[in-house]
Amino acid sequence: MPRPPADPADNFQPSYRVSRERLLEKLHGISRRLPVLVDSRSIAPRGPEGETLALDFAIVGARRPKHVLVLSSGTHGVEGYTGSAIQHWALDALLPRLSLGRDTAVVLQHANNPYGFAWHRRVNEDNVDPNRNFRDAFDPNQCSPDYEALYECLNPADLDPANEQRRWAEIQAYVDREGLRRFQQVAVEGQYKFPQGMQFGGHRRSAGTQHLIDLAREHLCAAQTVIWIDFHTGLGESGACELICGAALDSPAYAFAQQVWAGEVRSSQAGESISTPLNGLLDLGIQAVLPADARFAFAFPEYGTWPPERVIRAMRADNWLHHHGDLTDATGLAIKAEMLEAFRPASRDWMRTIVAHGSALVERTVGHLPGAGLAAA
Ligand SMILES: [Zn+2]
Repeated sequence: MPRPPADPADNFQPSYRVSRERLLEKLHGISRRLPVLVDSRSIAPRGPEGETLALDFAIVGARRPKHVLVLSSGTHGVEGYTGSAIQHWALDALLPRLSLGRDTAVVLQHANNPYGFAWHRRVNEDNVDPNRNFRDAFDPNQCSPDYEALYECLNPADLDPANEQRRWAEIQAYVDREGLRRFQQVAVEGQYKFPQGMQFGGHRRSAGTQHLIDLAREHLCAAQTVIWIDFHTGLGESGACELICGAALDSPAYAFAQQVWAGEVRSSQAGESISTPLNGLLDLGIQAVLPADARFAFAFPEYGTWPPERVIRAMRADNWLHHHGDLTDATGLAIKAEMLEAFRPASRDWMRTIVAHGSALVERTVGHLPGAGLAAA
């Protein structure tokens, strides 16, 4: 049986590939005590070491469960280090203490966006933000006029210092005029017009989006209770956590989320959250394929890393790199290193804070899962 690492920061894995391999190995270990079924759905691209990129939907406990807790990671690729750390903690320290009734399961869904996780991008192999891609219809003209006006500032074709100075001055003038919150809304809400732009939501469902919808539809078809936590980083004060959900304030999903996470959860659609309203969110896409009478509670824990300007600069440079730069030269390597730091800081203290919060959150949540019991640590 795997043992929890002495230092909680060691739950953070060195790469997508290693995280996946160790996860599958640990699941094999767990299968001696609890039933395990892993449904892996791969995508066409490969990782930096030539490895397979896949979504691994690992069901521990009942097949076709009535009651299920899902812990998912890596919707925003590089943010997957954090969700995967919580999954590794769960494998080492939660599942060995867990008893599950015959209708109950815990699902570890590793790497919703395996390409972005492996290549240290937030977006996937189509330059699509997966958390703007969960919708049925795509309008290739959907884009705010303000995003369009700021397009060249947000998505530069060069990094020439004089041009960059002018662009940042234009962004600053916009923020002075309209406010930072409005800028955040415009920059991140999701746009469907510019395939090479940041926050592109796609012109169709990406492969990973379709895989996740299919996995939920097939394996959660008998579900009566679905509690789902999808881990994110990059927004908020360093090490702080906000629980965000996309559900409307008057929806049953919002009410159940408030019941499970007792007043902690904030609706992005209602403007309660540090996150502004967003298009094509994963939780709404998943809910649409669950049984209509299933109780559904969903939260995106969002862990802060660095101030917003540093995070936006990192994403913006990464977008430039993948369309105009060279991943292997000094500029490219520096941009990739900054991308990792922006969404998975190297600070071991930051990692310990996140694992302490995330593990406590999961333990509290297990208390709301019918048929699950947790022995003391
Ligand atoms: Zn995210």
